[in-house]
Amino acid sequence: VALHMNAGLMADLPSLEGSGAEGVGLFRTELQFLIRNKMPQRAELATLYARVLEAAKGRPVAFRTLDIGSDKVLPYMKPQDEPNPAMGWRAIRVGLDKPGVLRMQVQALIRASDGRPLTIMFPFISEQAEFLEARSHVLRELHREKSLGHQVPSKVDIGAMLETPSLAYAPDSFFQMADFISIGGNDLKQFFFAADRENERVRKRYDTLNSSFLTFLQFIVARCAASGTSLSFCGEDAGRPVEALALAAIGLRNLSMRPASIGPVKALLRGVDLAAARAVIDTARSAGVETVRPALMEWLAAQAG
Ligand code: PEP
Ligand code: MG
Repeated sequence: VALHMNAGLMADLPSLEGSGAEGVGLFRTELQFLIRNKMPQRAELATLYARVLEAAKGRPVAFRTLDIGSDKVLPYMKPQDEPNPAMGWRAIRVGLDKPGVLRMQVQALIRASDGRPLTIMFPFISEQAEFLEARSHVLRELHREKSLGHQVPSKVDIGAMLETPSLAYAPDSFFQMADFISIGGNDLKQFFFAADRENERVRKRYDTLNSSFLTFLQFIVARCAASGTSLSFCGEDAGRPVEALALAAIGLRNLSMRPASIGPVKALLRGVDLAAARAVIDTARSAGVETVRPALMEWLAAQAG
């Protein structure tokens, strides 16, 4: 199981050495936009992204394009008065409707890569057409940068975050075209259960180890396996050891989490047999349990004893 870390600030990068992460599975670029009082310039971003790549020393970094809206409101952008911001004009929807910032950010990433490999992923892709359009912006900027005489990345991987159930049912052509898919479990779980991740009252009502949710995640694993698309999971649950165990057992073999979680997750995963954990999950699920957590915890306790 490959463990990567989530990051968003330069200050996170030193953790890459100490944490044992194989790379940055999610670099949340919006943090750089949120900590300023005006829109950052392309040159500023290019410098910053280059420093991130240098700090990564050749390890892969998946840069997620601007994910704003919903809980992340830029102080210098006119707030949208929306009844349901989490389901509103956010993330790639903003990027596609007002592509100026998306294109500027992609240019900054290409310049930062300076001939090195580049990994870009788009947040909150709900359907194939959005991925195609976002991807075409990257292809166009690559062409443009090249024609301007800038060095282009040696390789570009373009992926989508799967954060809405709809994308799991996208045509095969989407899975074939995406270089990789990363499950944004925080949003995906919120939309799977219709339970607001910001609302304390309902946030913890549905267990991540809920049988239906695990079955759904397994469906995504199967679709990616069928098309040979690499798949990772970068929501907060990847950093919780028991959740990480369940995710790995059902076939998610690339997890990205906050740096401090890598040690505990690694310690648990190293000591267990994933096939046996999978059998525990399958048996509990066949018995009709709501959540496989009790069965998995009992099995873990028996392992320890
Ligand atoms: C997610 O939704 O799981 C995710 C990783 O993105 P964010 O938490 O930034 O929305
Ligand atoms: Mg998200």
